[in-house]
Parts: sequence; C-alpha cells; structure tokens
Amino acid sequence: MAVNGVQAYPGDELAVIEEYEPVGDYFIEDGQIIASKVSIVNKDKSLKQIHIRGLVRKYVKVGDTVLGQVEYVQKPFAHVVIFKVNEEKLHGDLKAMLYFDPYLRVTPFNEGAIVRAKVIGLTAGHLMLDMQDDKMGVLEAWCPYCGGPLVKRGKNMLRCLKCGKNSFMRLAPDFYSGNSKKINRSNIF
Ligand SMILES: [Zn+2]
Repeated sequence: MAVNGVQAYPGDELAVIEEYEPVGDYFIEDGQIIASKVSIVNKDKSLKQIHIRGLVRKYVKVGDTVLGQVEYVQKPFAHVVIFKVNEEKLHGDLKAMLYFDPYLRVTPFNEGAIVRAKVIGLTAGHLMLDMQDDKMGVLEAWCPYCGGPLVKRGKNMLRCLKCGKNSFMRLAPDFYSGNSKKINRSNIF
C-alpha cells in the first residue's frame, strides 16, 4: 500500500477500488488501482481519493537535464534522486539510474555527490541518465575518505582540504569547490 508523497512505478498496486476513487494516471485490474507511469501518489483519506501524478509525462523527457544526488553506486549504475529538471524544482523526489563506464579504473563520482546528467531513456519504469555531454558531471562532492571539502586540482581530479587525499571524479565545468560558496539542497530548492 502506498503512503503519501511516495513514488510509484508502472504496475505498482496502489489501493483497492472499493477504498479510494483514483484521480490521475492509473489503470484498474482485478479491483486494484495500478500506476501506469512513474508517479507520485497522495491519498486523501477524508475525500477517499487517491491522486496519482505521472512524473515522467509532466516533468521529464529524453534530452532533459537533471540535477540529483547519488544515493548509492552499483556498477555500472548509480542510483540518483533527482530534485531538479531543466532548472525547475520537482515536487517530490524522482529516482533514476545513472549509467557510467564499468571499465573505468574508478567510479567517476561517490555516494552523496550532486550531479548534473542528461535523461537518455526510460527502461522498465526507470529513468536512465548519463553524463556524456561536456556540461554534465559532478557539481559538488565530499571526500570519499573523510567527508571533508574538496577542491579541484586538475581535470577530473580533486583534493581534500581536510585529509589531503586525491580523488578522481567526472567533474562538471562549473564544479563547486570547497573554497567557493557551498551549495546545499536548501539552496538548490
Ligand atoms: Zn578527506
């Protein structure tokens, strides 16, 4: 059963039709209300309505540029929570998978990094992203060893101001270094 503001994928069972009146992007099968798109779901218990808002159709399409934060890495993908699409804030987090070259010696970003990426497709209900374009890459990240602030030390090379270790990441041309004004999610929002 879905709770408020959660993300649903196509085929997810959201509620039974006896309990809620569905509004938005859905279909009905065996008395179940089922998401037809990647959606944000909200239930209104007093009105007995379930609102299913398809995110992909409304907000995200192939070719769009998104900002997100890397949740975890599972070669050759990173799971990313998108919070902005084409500079527009999303109402609710949208998850996506960011592809990277599995033959790279090191993963080109780390968990927690804020990345800019391009939407390249939708596969089995998952948004697929990549960073091939020159403008794409890591916008802000923290040291993978100690969590300290990182400064740019060359093309795709960063150095930690706290522990002094270097790390390789695929950097966006406008990477925010630890010396510049920090961005955080509240600024981005
Ligand atoms: Zn460090």
